Amino acid sequence: MDDTISAIATALGVGSIGVIRLSGPDSLAIADRIFTGREKPGKDNARKLLYGHILDRKGQPIDEVLAVYMPGPHSYTGEDVCEIQCHGGRQALQEILSLTYQAGARPAEPGEFTKRAFLNGRLDLAEAESVMDIINAKSRQALVAANRGHEGGLSRKVRELRKKLRDLVVQLEAAIDYPEEDIEEVTYDRAAEVLAEGQAAVARLVRQGSAGRILREGLRTAIVGRPNVGKSSLLNSLLQADRAIVSNIPGTTRDIIEEQMTIGGILLVLTDTAGLRDTEDLVEKIGVERSRAALEDAQLALVVLDGSQPLSGEDRELLRSLKDRKKLILVNKSDLPQMLDTEGLQREYGRSDVIVLSVKTGEGMEQVEQWLREFVYGEGSDSESSSMTQNARQQDLLEKALRSLEDALEGARQHLPYDCLTIDLTQTLHDLGEITGEDVPDEIIDEIFAQFCVGK
Ligand code: GDP
Repeated sequence: MDDTISAIATALGVGSIGVIRLSGPDSLAIADRIFTGREKPGKDNARKLLYGHILDRKGQPIDEVLAVYMPGPHSYTGEDVCEIQCHGGRQALQEILSLTYQAGARPAEPGEFTKRAFLNGRLDLAEAESVMDIINAKSRQALVAANRGHEGGLSRKVRELRKKLRDLVVQLEAAIDYPEEDIEEVTYDRAAEVLAEGQAAVARLVRQGSAGRILREGLRTAIVGRPNVGKSSLLNSLLQADRAIVSNIPGTTRDIIEEQMTIGGILLVLTDTAGLRDTEDLVEKIGVERSRAALEDAQLALVVLDGSQPLSGEDRELLRSLKDRKKLILVNKSDLPQMLDTEGLQREYGRSDVIVLSVKTGEGMEQVEQWLREFVYGEGSDSESSSMTQNARQQDLLEKALRSLEDALEGARQHLPYDCLTIDLTQTLHDLGEITGEDVPDEIIDEIFAQFCVGK
Protein backbone atom coordinates (compact mmCIF):
# COMPACT_ATOMS: atom_id res chain seq x y z
CA MET A 1 0.00 0.00 0.00
CA ASP A 2 1.74 3.15 -1.09
CA ASP A 3 -0.46 5.77 0.55
CA THR A 4 -0.83 6.70 4.18
CA ILE A 5 -4.19 6.53 5.93
CA SER A 6 -5.38 8.28 9.04
CA ALA A 7 -8.42 7.95 11.32
CA ILE A 8 -9.67 8.48 14.83
CA ALA A 9 -9.32 5.06 16.47
CA THR A 10 -11.29 5.75 19.63
CA ALA A 11 -15.05 6.12 19.96
CA LEU A 12 -16.46 9.48 18.99
CA GLY A 13 -17.80 11.44 21.91
CA VAL A 14 -16.22 12.83 25.02
CA GLY A 15 -13.60 10.64 26.63
CA SER A 16 -10.49 11.21 28.67
CA ILE A 17 -8.18 10.36 25.81
CA GLY A 18 -8.57 9.90 22.10
CA VAL A 19 -6.25 8.18 19.65
CA ILE A 20 -5.45 9.13 16.08
CA ARG A 21 -3.79 6.47 14.06
CA LEU A 22 -1.67 6.76 10.92
CA SER A 23 -0.49 3.86 8.80
CA GLY A 24 1.58 3.83 5.63
CA PRO A 25 4.97 4.92 4.31
CA ASP A 26 4.54 8.60 5.25
CA SER A 27 3.29 8.08 8.79
CA LEU A 28 6.51 9.23 10.36
CA ALA A 29 6.91 12.25 8.08
CA ILE A 30 3.32 13.32 8.74
CA ALA A 31 3.71 12.95 12.50
CA ASP A 32 6.95 14.88 12.27
CA ARG A 33 5.17 17.75 10.49
CA ILE A 34 2.47 18.25 13.11
CA PHE A 35 4.15 17.15 16.36
CA THR A 36 6.57 19.17 18.37
CA GLY A 37 8.37 18.07 21.50
CA ARG A 38 11.77 17.61 23.07
CA GLU A 39 12.20 14.42 21.08
CA LYS A 40 10.68 13.87 17.64
CA PRO A 41 9.46 10.36 16.80
CA GLY A 42 12.01 8.41 14.77
CA LYS A 43 13.86 5.13 14.41
CA ASP A 44 15.89 5.71 17.59
CA ASN A 45 12.92 6.04 19.89
CA ALA A 46 10.56 3.63 18.13
CA ARG A 47 7.76 2.24 20.31
CA LYS A 48 8.46 4.87 22.97
CA LEU A 49 5.79 7.33 24.07
CA LEU A 50 6.95 10.90 23.48
CA TYR A 51 5.47 13.90 25.18
CA GLY A 52 4.74 17.02 23.12
CA HIS A 53 2.17 19.19 21.39
CA ILE A 54 0.33 19.26 18.12
CA LEU A 55 0.65 22.62 16.43
CA ASP A 56 -1.57 24.01 13.73
CA ARG A 57 -0.14 25.51 10.57
CA LYS A 58 0.30 28.89 12.24
CA GLY A 59 2.27 27.27 15.04
CA GLN A 60 -0.59 27.52 17.53
CA PRO A 61 -0.79 24.55 19.93
CA ILE A 62 -3.97 22.51 19.48
CA ASP A 63 -3.47 19.93 22.18
CA GLU A 64 -0.97 18.38 24.54
CA VAL A 65 -0.31 14.82 23.36
CA LEU A 66 1.72 11.63 23.53
CA ALA A 67 2.98 10.22 20.25
CA VAL A 68 4.44 6.84 19.39
CA TYR A 69 6.08 5.46 16.27
CA MET A 70 5.80 1.74 15.51
CA PRO A 71 7.91 0.84 12.48
CA GLY A 72 6.73 -1.85 10.06
CA PRO A 73 6.73 -4.73 9.60
CA HIS A 74 6.25 -5.33 13.33
CA SER A 75 3.17 -3.18 13.74
CA TYR A 76 -0.58 -3.89 13.68
CA THR A 77 -0.87 -3.22 9.95
CA GLY A 78 2.62 -4.40 9.07
CA GLU A 79 3.39 -0.86 7.89
CA ASP A 80 4.91 2.17 9.57
CA VAL A 81 2.34 3.28 12.13
CA CYS A 82 2.16 6.43 14.26
CA GLU A 83 -0.39 6.97 16.99
CA ILE A 84 -1.16 10.23 18.69
CA GLN A 85 -2.93 10.23 22.02
CA CYS A 86 -4.66 13.51 22.67
CA HIS A 87 -7.45 14.70 24.94
CA GLY A 88 -10.62 12.87 24.12
CA GLY A 89 -12.81 15.79 23.08
CA ARG A 90 -14.40 15.97 19.68
CA GLN A 91 -12.76 19.24 18.72
CA ALA A 92 -9.18 18.22 19.52
CA LEU A 93 -9.59 14.91 17.70
CA GLN A 94 -11.19 16.43 14.62
CA GLU A 95 -8.59 19.20 14.34
CA ILE A 96 -5.65 16.85 14.69
CA LEU A 97 -7.23 14.50 12.17
CA SER A 98 -7.60 17.37 9.65
CA LEU A 99 -3.98 18.29 10.22
CA THR A 100 -2.91 14.77 9.32
CA TYR A 101 -4.92 15.10 6.08
CA GLN A 102 -3.28 18.45 5.32
CA ALA A 103 0.10 16.88 5.98
CA GLY A 104 -0.50 14.17 3.38
CA ALA A 105 -2.65 11.39 4.82
CA ARG A 106 -6.01 10.34 3.38
CA PRO A 107 -9.06 9.32 5.42
CA ALA A 108 -9.05 5.60 6.21
CA GLU A 109 -12.03 3.52 5.11
CA PRO A 110 -13.88 1.36 7.63
CA GLY A 111 -11.66 -1.54 8.69
CA GLU A 112 -8.82 -0.37 6.49
CA PHE A 113 -6.12 -0.77 9.14
CA THR A 114 -7.15 -4.37 9.72
CA LYS A 115 -7.53 -4.90 5.98
CA ARG A 116 -3.94 -3.74 5.53
CA ALA A 117 -2.89 -6.11 8.32
CA PHE A 118 -4.58 -8.88 6.35
CA LEU A 119 -3.11 -7.85 2.98
CA ASN A 120 0.34 -7.62 4.57
CA GLY A 121 -0.02 -11.11 6.00
CA ARG A 122 -0.18 -10.06 9.66
CA LEU A 123 -3.56 -11.73 10.09
CA ASP A 124 -5.54 -14.14 7.99
CA LEU A 125 -9.15 -13.44 7.16
CA ALA A 126 -10.69 -15.50 9.95
CA GLU A 127 -8.36 -13.86 12.48
CA ALA A 128 -9.21 -10.43 11.11
CA GLU A 129 -12.93 -11.15 11.41
CA SER A 130 -12.50 -12.10 15.04
CA VAL A 131 -11.07 -8.63 15.71
CA MET A 132 -14.58 -7.38 15.09
CA ASP A 133 -16.04 -10.17 17.23
CA ILE A 134 -13.79 -9.06 20.08
CA ILE A 135 -14.99 -5.48 19.73
CA ASN A 136 -18.63 -6.58 19.54
CA ALA A 137 -18.49 -9.25 22.27
CA LYS A 138 -21.34 -8.80 24.73
CA SER A 139 -20.68 -11.71 27.02
CA ARG A 140 -17.65 -13.31 28.57
CA GLN A 141 -18.28 -16.42 26.55
CA ALA A 142 -18.41 -14.45 23.30
CA LEU A 143 -15.16 -12.69 24.20
CA VAL A 144 -13.36 -15.92 25.04
CA ALA A 145 -14.50 -17.48 21.78
CA ALA A 146 -13.53 -14.39 19.76
CA ASN A 147 -10.08 -14.42 21.33
CA ARG A 148 -9.72 -18.06 20.43
CA GLY A 149 -10.50 -17.11 16.84
CA HIS A 150 -8.08 -14.19 16.97
CA GLU A 151 -5.31 -16.45 18.18
CA GLY A 152 -5.92 -18.50 15.06
CA GLY A 153 -7.88 -21.40 16.56
CA LEU A 154 -9.98 -21.92 13.46
CA SER A 155 -7.33 -20.75 11.00
CA ARG A 156 -4.74 -23.21 12.21
CA LYS A 157 -7.09 -26.15 11.85
CA VAL A 158 -8.22 -25.02 8.42
CA ARG A 159 -4.65 -24.46 7.20
CA GLU A 160 -3.45 -27.86 8.44
CA LEU A 161 -6.33 -29.56 6.75
CA ARG A 162 -5.83 -27.65 3.51
CA LYS A 163 -2.22 -28.72 3.43
CA LYS A 164 -3.11 -32.40 3.83
CA LEU A 165 -5.78 -32.18 1.15
CA ARG A 166 -3.48 -30.31 -1.21
CA ASP A 167 -0.87 -33.04 -0.81
CA LEU A 168 -3.53 -35.58 -1.63
CA VAL A 169 -4.52 -33.70 -4.77
CA VAL A 170 -0.87 -33.69 -5.85
CA GLN A 171 -0.68 -37.47 -5.34
CA LEU A 172 -3.90 -38.04 -7.23
CA GLU A 173 -2.73 -35.86 -10.07
CA ALA A 174 0.51 -37.80 -10.22
CA ALA A 175 -1.52 -40.98 -10.50
CA ILE A 176 -3.59 -39.43 -13.29
CA ASP A 177 -0.47 -38.28 -15.16
CA TYR A 178 1.49 -41.51 -14.74
CA PRO A 179 -1.16 -44.24 -14.82
CA GLU A 180 1.33 -46.92 -15.77
CA GLU A 181 2.94 -46.77 -12.37
CA ASP A 182 1.07 -49.31 -10.32
CA ILE A 183 -0.08 -47.18 -7.40
CA GLU A 184 -3.82 -47.39 -7.78
CA GLU A 185 -4.93 -49.43 -4.76
CA VAL A 186 -2.55 -47.70 -2.41
CA THR A 187 -3.75 -44.32 -3.53
CA TYR A 188 -7.45 -45.13 -3.07
CA ASP A 189 -6.87 -46.47 0.40
CA ARG A 190 -4.63 -43.61 1.32
CA ALA A 191 -7.10 -41.11 -0.17
CA ALA A 192 -9.99 -42.61 1.77
CA GLU A 193 -7.93 -42.46 4.95
CA VAL A 194 -6.96 -38.81 4.51
CA LEU A 195 -10.47 -37.88 3.43
CA ALA A 196 -12.09 -39.64 6.36
CA GLU A 197 -9.79 -37.80 8.75
CA GLY A 198 -10.55 -34.52 7.05
CA GLN A 199 -14.25 -35.21 7.03
CA ALA A 200 -14.20 -35.93 10.77
CA ALA A 201 -12.24 -32.75 11.45
CA VAL A 202 -14.58 -30.52 9.46
CA ALA A 203 -17.64 -32.25 10.91
CA ARG A 204 -16.26 -31.49 14.37
CA LEU A 205 -15.79 -27.82 13.48
CA VAL A 206 -19.31 -27.62 12.08
CA ARG A 207 -20.67 -29.19 15.25
CA GLN A 208 -18.65 -26.88 17.46
CA GLY A 209 -19.93 -23.97 15.43
CA SER A 210 -23.53 -24.96 15.90
CA ALA A 211 -22.88 -25.69 19.58
CA GLY A 212 -21.56 -22.15 19.84
CA ARG A 213 -24.70 -20.83 18.23
CA ILE A 214 -26.92 -22.90 20.50
CA LEU A 215 -25.00 -21.60 23.52
CA ARG A 216 -25.70 -18.07 22.41
CA GLU A 217 -29.24 -18.43 21.17
CA GLY A 218 -30.59 -21.54 22.89
CA LEU A 219 -31.95 -24.79 21.49
CA ARG A 220 -35.48 -24.37 20.16
CA THR A 221 -37.38 -27.30 21.58
CA ALA A 222 -40.98 -28.46 21.43
CA ILE A 223 -42.60 -30.83 23.92
CA VAL A 224 -45.16 -32.92 22.10
CA GLY A 225 -47.42 -35.86 22.83
CA ARG A 226 -51.07 -36.69 23.19
CA PRO A 227 -53.10 -35.45 26.17
CA ASN A 228 -52.32 -36.75 29.65
CA VAL A 229 -48.96 -38.30 28.95
CA GLY A 230 -47.31 -35.75 31.28
CA LYS A 231 -46.13 -32.90 29.05
CA SER A 232 -47.11 -30.08 31.36
CA SER A 233 -45.79 -31.99 34.36
CA LEU A 234 -42.48 -32.33 32.51
CA LEU A 235 -42.42 -28.64 31.65
CA ASN A 236 -43.17 -27.69 35.25
CA SER A 237 -40.56 -29.98 36.65
CA LEU A 238 -37.96 -28.63 34.23
CA LEU A 239 -38.88 -25.06 35.14
CA GLN A 240 -38.73 -25.80 38.84
CA ALA A 241 -35.32 -27.33 38.51
CA ASP A 242 -34.15 -24.15 36.88
CA ARG A 243 -34.20 -21.73 39.77
CA ALA A 244 -32.86 -18.93 37.65
CA ILE A 245 -36.26 -18.49 36.12
CA VAL A 246 -38.44 -16.49 38.48
CA SER A 247 -40.90 -14.85 36.18
CA ASN A 248 -42.93 -17.95 35.43
CA ILE A 249 -45.59 -17.71 38.08
CA PRO A 250 -48.25 -20.36 37.42
CA GLY A 251 -51.38 -18.82 36.01
CA THR A 252 -49.60 -15.91 34.41
CA THR A 253 -48.25 -17.82 31.50
CA ARG A 254 -51.39 -18.28 29.47
CA ASP A 255 -50.15 -15.96 26.80
CA ILE A 256 -46.52 -16.91 26.87
CA ILE A 257 -45.70 -19.06 23.94
CA GLU A 258 -42.01 -19.37 24.67
CA GLU A 259 -40.21 -20.21 27.88
CA GLN A 260 -36.52 -20.52 28.51
CA MET A 261 -34.61 -22.68 30.93
CA THR A 262 -31.16 -24.15 31.23
CA ILE A 263 -30.68 -27.87 31.57
CA GLY A 264 -27.19 -29.17 32.14
CA GLY A 265 -25.88 -25.73 31.14
CA ILE A 266 -27.79 -25.74 27.87
CA LEU A 267 -30.36 -23.08 27.19
CA LEU A 268 -33.61 -24.54 25.94
CA VAL A 269 -36.15 -22.29 24.31
CA LEU A 270 -39.44 -24.13 24.53
CA THR A 271 -41.92 -23.25 21.88
CA ASP A 272 -45.66 -23.20 22.35
CA THR A 273 -45.78 -23.74 26.07
CA ALA A 274 -48.99 -21.73 26.43
CA GLY A 275 -50.98 -24.80 25.48
CA LEU A 276 -49.12 -26.90 28.00
CA ARG A 277 -49.94 -24.54 30.81
CA ASP A 278 -53.54 -24.09 29.76
CA THR A 279 -54.97 -26.94 31.75
CA GLU A 280 -58.63 -26.23 30.97
CA ASP A 281 -58.53 -26.75 27.24
CA LEU A 282 -55.76 -29.27 27.39
CA VAL A 283 -57.62 -32.25 26.03
CA GLU A 284 -59.14 -30.43 23.11
CA LYS A 285 -56.19 -28.34 22.18
CA ILE A 286 -53.14 -30.46 22.38
CA GLY A 287 -53.58 -32.88 19.59
CA VAL A 288 -51.28 -33.94 16.86
CA GLU A 289 -52.23 -30.86 14.83
CA ARG A 290 -51.20 -28.47 17.51
CA SER A 291 -47.95 -30.30 18.12
CA ARG A 292 -47.14 -29.97 14.48
CA ALA A 293 -47.47 -26.21 14.58
CA ALA A 294 -45.23 -26.00 17.62
CA LEU A 295 -42.72 -28.17 15.89
CA GLU A 296 -42.33 -26.16 12.77
CA ASP A 297 -39.68 -23.93 14.20
CA ALA A 298 -38.10 -26.40 16.63
CA GLN A 299 -34.62 -27.91 16.32
CA LEU A 300 -35.53 -30.70 18.70
CA ALA A 301 -38.75 -32.50 19.65
CA LEU A 302 -39.21 -34.03 23.06
CA VAL A 303 -41.84 -36.67 22.38
CA VAL A 304 -43.61 -37.72 25.55
CA LEU A 305 -45.35 -41.11 25.75
CA ASP A 306 -47.21 -42.72 28.63
CA GLY A 307 -45.40 -45.91 29.65
CA SER A 308 -48.36 -47.10 31.69
CA GLN A 309 -50.39 -47.54 28.50
CA PRO A 310 -49.72 -49.36 25.26
CA LEU A 311 -48.66 -47.23 22.32
CA SER A 312 -51.82 -45.72 20.81
CA GLY A 313 -52.67 -44.95 17.21
CA GLU A 314 -52.23 -41.28 17.97
CA ASP A 315 -48.74 -41.91 19.38
CA ARG A 316 -47.81 -43.82 16.27
CA GLU A 317 -49.14 -41.12 14.02
CA LEU A 318 -47.15 -38.50 15.93
CA LEU A 319 -43.95 -40.53 15.71
CA ARG A 320 -44.52 -41.08 12.04
CA SER A 321 -45.00 -37.37 11.44
CA LEU A 322 -41.65 -36.80 13.16
CA LYS A 323 -39.81 -39.29 11.05
CA ASP A 324 -37.23 -36.82 9.76
CA ARG A 325 -36.94 -34.68 12.87
CA LYS A 326 -34.35 -34.70 15.59
CA LYS A 327 -36.18 -36.16 18.54
CA LEU A 328 -35.83 -37.62 21.97
CA ILE A 329 -38.55 -40.06 22.97
CA LEU A 330 -39.46 -39.94 26.64
CA VAL A 331 -41.43 -42.87 28.01
CA ASN A 332 -42.97 -41.28 31.10
CA LYS A 333 -44.57 -42.66 34.26
CA SER A 334 -41.98 -45.35 34.91
CA ASP A 335 -43.26 -45.43 38.51
CA LEU A 336 -46.45 -47.13 37.27
CA PRO A 337 -46.71 -50.71 35.92
CA GLN A 338 -45.38 -50.58 32.35
CA MET A 339 -47.63 -51.47 29.44
CA LEU A 340 -45.62 -49.91 26.65
CA ASP A 341 -43.18 -51.95 24.58
CA THR A 342 -40.12 -49.82 25.25
CA GLU A 343 -37.73 -52.33 23.73
CA GLY A 344 -39.68 -52.35 20.50
CA LEU A 345 -39.46 -48.55 20.42
CA GLN A 346 -35.73 -48.67 21.07
CA ARG A 347 -35.26 -51.11 18.24
CA GLU A 348 -37.17 -48.83 15.93
CA TYR A 349 -35.81 -45.44 17.00
CA GLY A 350 -32.40 -46.27 18.44
CA ARG A 351 -31.64 -47.32 21.99
CA SER A 352 -30.05 -44.06 23.01
CA ASP A 353 -32.90 -41.88 21.73
CA VAL A 354 -35.53 -43.50 23.95
CA ILE A 355 -35.36 -42.69 27.66
CA VAL A 356 -37.63 -44.18 30.31
CA LEU A 357 -38.41 -41.70 33.04
CA SER A 358 -40.83 -40.61 35.69
CA VAL A 359 -41.53 -36.93 35.96
CA LYS A 360 -43.16 -37.73 39.30
CA THR A 361 -40.15 -39.38 40.96
CA GLY A 362 -37.42 -37.73 38.88
CA GLU A 363 -36.08 -41.06 37.67
CA GLY A 364 -34.32 -40.77 34.31
CA MET A 365 -34.03 -36.98 34.35
CA GLU A 366 -30.24 -37.13 34.58
CA GLN A 367 -30.17 -39.23 31.46
CA VAL A 368 -32.16 -36.54 29.70
CA GLU A 369 -29.54 -33.95 30.71
CA GLN A 370 -26.75 -36.17 29.48
CA TRP A 371 -28.56 -36.78 26.20
CA LEU A 372 -29.00 -33.04 25.64
CA ARG A 373 -25.34 -32.34 26.31
CA GLU A 374 -24.31 -34.97 23.82
CA PHE A 375 -26.83 -33.67 21.33
CA VAL A 376 -25.35 -30.17 21.53
CA TYR A 377 -21.65 -30.82 22.06
CA GLY A 378 -21.25 -34.16 20.40
CA GLU A 379 -20.38 -37.46 21.99
CA GLY A 380 -17.59 -37.71 24.51
CA SER A 381 -17.49 -34.01 25.16
CA ASP A 382 -19.66 -32.17 27.59
CA SER A 383 -17.74 -29.01 27.90
CA GLU A 384 -18.74 -25.70 26.48
CA SER A 385 -15.08 -24.79 26.25
CA SER A 386 -14.88 -26.72 23.03
CA SER A 387 -17.44 -24.53 21.35
CA MET A 388 -16.27 -22.04 18.79
CA THR A 389 -18.08 -19.07 17.49
CA GLN A 390 -17.62 -19.26 13.82
CA ASN A 391 -19.50 -16.46 12.17
CA ALA A 392 -22.22 -17.26 9.68
CA ARG A 393 -19.85 -16.86 6.73
CA GLN A 394 -17.31 -19.27 8.17
CA GLN A 395 -19.93 -21.79 9.28
CA ASP A 396 -21.50 -21.71 5.84
CA LEU A 397 -18.14 -22.39 4.17
CA LEU A 398 -17.38 -25.21 6.60
CA GLU A 399 -20.71 -26.83 5.81
CA LYS A 400 -20.01 -26.53 2.08
CA ALA A 401 -16.52 -27.97 2.55
CA LEU A 402 -18.00 -30.85 4.52
CA ARG A 403 -20.38 -31.72 1.68
CA SER A 404 -17.68 -31.83 -1.00
CA LEU A 405 -15.37 -33.75 1.33
CA GLU A 406 -18.09 -36.32 1.92
CA ASP A 407 -18.55 -36.64 -1.85
CA ALA A 408 -14.82 -37.12 -2.33
CA LEU A 409 -14.69 -39.72 0.44
CA GLU A 410 -17.59 -41.62 -1.06
CA GLY A 411 -15.85 -41.43 -4.44
CA ALA A 412 -12.61 -42.83 -3.00
CA ARG A 413 -14.47 -45.68 -1.34
CA GLN A 414 -16.19 -46.52 -4.61
CA HIS A 415 -12.93 -46.23 -6.55
CA LEU A 416 -14.31 -43.55 -8.87
CA PRO A 417 -11.85 -42.11 -11.39
CA TYR A 418 -9.25 -39.88 -9.77
CA ASP A 419 -10.39 -36.75 -11.54
CA CYS A 420 -13.82 -37.09 -9.89
CA LEU A 421 -12.07 -36.97 -6.55
CA THR A 422 -9.90 -34.02 -7.47
CA ILE A 423 -12.94 -32.04 -8.65
CA ASP A 424 -14.59 -32.45 -5.23
CA LEU A 425 -11.32 -31.79 -3.46
CA THR A 426 -10.66 -28.63 -5.42
CA GLN A 427 -14.06 -27.38 -4.25
CA THR A 428 -13.21 -28.26 -0.64
CA LEU A 429 -9.87 -26.50 -0.88
CA HIS A 430 -11.55 -23.44 -2.31
CA ASP A 431 -14.20 -23.26 0.43
CA LEU A 432 -11.64 -23.75 3.17
CA GLY A 433 -9.38 -21.19 1.53
CA GLU A 434 -12.17 -18.66 1.65
CA ILE A 435 -12.29 -19.01 5.42
CA THR A 436 -8.68 -18.00 5.92
CA GLY A 437 -8.64 -15.69 2.92
CA GLU A 438 -6.05 -17.67 0.98
CA ASP A 439 -8.53 -18.17 -1.82
CA VAL A 440 -11.09 -15.42 -1.71
CA PRO A 441 -12.43 -12.91 -4.23
CA ASP A 442 -11.63 -9.24 -3.65
CA GLU A 443 -15.32 -8.30 -3.41
CA ILE A 444 -15.74 -10.57 -0.42
CA ILE A 445 -12.71 -9.08 1.28
CA ASP A 446 -14.09 -5.59 0.68
CA GLU A 447 -17.49 -6.64 1.98
CA ILE A 448 -16.03 -8.10 5.16
CA PHE A 449 -13.92 -5.09 6.04
CA ALA A 450 -16.71 -2.65 5.16
CA GLN A 451 -18.52 -4.01 8.23
CA PHE A 452 -15.72 -2.84 10.48
CA CYS A 453 -15.64 0.51 12.20
CA VAL A 454 -13.49 3.37 10.95
CA GLY A 455 -10.16 3.45 12.71
CA LYS A 456 -9.96 -0.32 13.23
P1 GDP B 1 -50.27 -33.47 29.55
O1 GDP B 1 -51.70 -33.51 29.16
O2 GDP B 1 -49.45 -34.29 28.61
O3 GDP B 1 -49.70 -32.13 29.75
O4 GDP B 1 -50.20 -34.28 30.94
P2 GDP B 1 -50.10 -33.72 32.42
O5 GDP B 1 -48.75 -33.21 32.68
O6 GDP B 1 -51.24 -32.82 32.67
O7 GDP B 1 -50.24 -35.06 33.21
C1 GDP B 1 -51.38 -35.90 33.08
C2 GDP B 1 -51.52 -36.72 34.34
O8 GDP B 1 -50.41 -37.61 34.49
C3 GDP B 1 -51.52 -35.86 35.61
O9 GDP B 1 -52.46 -36.37 36.50
C4 GDP B 1 -50.10 -36.04 36.15
O10 GDP B 1 -50.05 -35.91 37.54
C5 GDP B 1 -49.78 -37.47 35.74
N1 GDP B 1 -48.36 -37.70 35.60
C6 GDP B 1 -47.46 -36.97 34.91
N2 GDP B 1 -46.24 -37.53 35.01
C7 GDP B 1 -46.36 -38.62 35.77
C8 GDP B 1 -45.43 -39.64 36.23
O11 GDP B 1 -44.21 -39.63 35.96
N3 GDP B 1 -45.94 -40.65 36.99
C9 GDP B 1 -47.27 -40.70 37.31
N4 GDP B 1 -47.64 -41.71 38.06
N5 GDP B 1 -48.14 -39.77 36.91
C10 GDP B 1 -47.71 -38.74 36.14
